[in-house]
Amino acid sequence: EAKNSGRNTWRFFAPQLGEAASRRLLLEGALRQAAGKGELLLHYQPQYELADGRLVGLEALVRWQHPEQGLVPPAMFIGIAEEIGIIEQIDAWVLDEACRQLAAWDRSGLRVPRVSVNLSALELESAGLVDRVGAVVANHGLGADRLELEVTESVIMRDPATAEHALAGLKALGVQLAVDDFGTGYSSLAYLKRLPIDRLKIDRSFVQDIGSSASDESIVRAIIALADSLGLETVAEGVETAEHAAFLRAEGCRMGQGYLFARPLPVDELAALLGGGAELADGAQTVG
Ligand code: C2E
Ligand code: MG
Ligand code: MG
Ligand code: MG
Repeated sequence: EAKNSGRNTWRFFAPQLGEAASRRLLLEGALRQAAGKGELLLHYQPQYELADGRLVGLEALVRWQHPEQGLVPPAMFIGIAEEIGIIEQIDAWVLDEACRQLAAWDRSGLRVPRVSVNLSALELESAGLVDRVGAVVANHGLGADRLELEVTESVIMRDPATAEHALAGLKALGVQLAVDDFGTGYSSLAYLKRLPIDRLKIDRSFVQDIGSSASDESIVRAIIALADSLGLETVAEGVETAEHAAFLRAEGCRMGQGYLFARPLPVDELAALLGGGAELADGAQTVG
């Protein structure tokens, strides 16, 4: 039977798999090697205080520089990485790289208050996460409060007891915690109250319809009110227009992130935003 004919089986099936499936196989193979080949990189998107425009932090967003396909966005490979069991490697690389870069900015005299890193479900549920995070920040000589970890609502609610335990451990280290894409999942308010989180990130889908959808505006207001009553800060994601920003500021949303202010940028293009002309990359790269 073809199934038992060993490692060349896929060659036999490839013509029948269709183009999409073959492409997927190629992508999986390349993705398995991407981290080792140095093909992953981070872009950073600034978050600002809406009241006075102060920089509050940068969110690290992973990209894959594929040799033939160019820059691949995370939506194209994070899901596959989860399925083929290499997401923890990728998340570990992202965490280490973001902390390394933050320490490099510190050494070059640039004030980046904090860096945020996204955590996948498997990462949050994996044993030893707290120790690993503690080791990484310590290795780079950073205070744990310079790091923020973002976890989506749906990741938390997948296994609330495990998530609560992990988040408590991370909080004990001193790491800051944000609930990402808030409003799209099904958080139990009872859990939300118990979790040691610092802030909610209002999902882009609500922000984008500010000015055109009264119900989305009501949802944004409700999230801000909920956050206030729980003593949490709010960050709006996907702020694209001055109208979005004005509404959010008026409603008391504390921080914003989005194309209106800046797109996610590679390190060498962040110079202008972080004070222009400074040395940003840990090589001697000077921009501006
Ligand atoms: P996210 O954490 O919610 O990140 C915000 C996404 O919104 C980013 O997409 C960002 O480029 C995009 N964005 C920011 N501002 C605007 C805006 O004004 N308008 C619009 N239309 N989009 C905006 P990106 O970089 O493609 O990342 C997508 C998702 O992939 C992230 O959503 C996050 O869930 C995941 N991701 C990114 N990096 C990592 C990582 O290192 N590990 C894991 N596990 N997931 C990651
Ligand atoms: Mg995020
Ligand atoms: Mg988000
Ligand atoms: Mg989002």
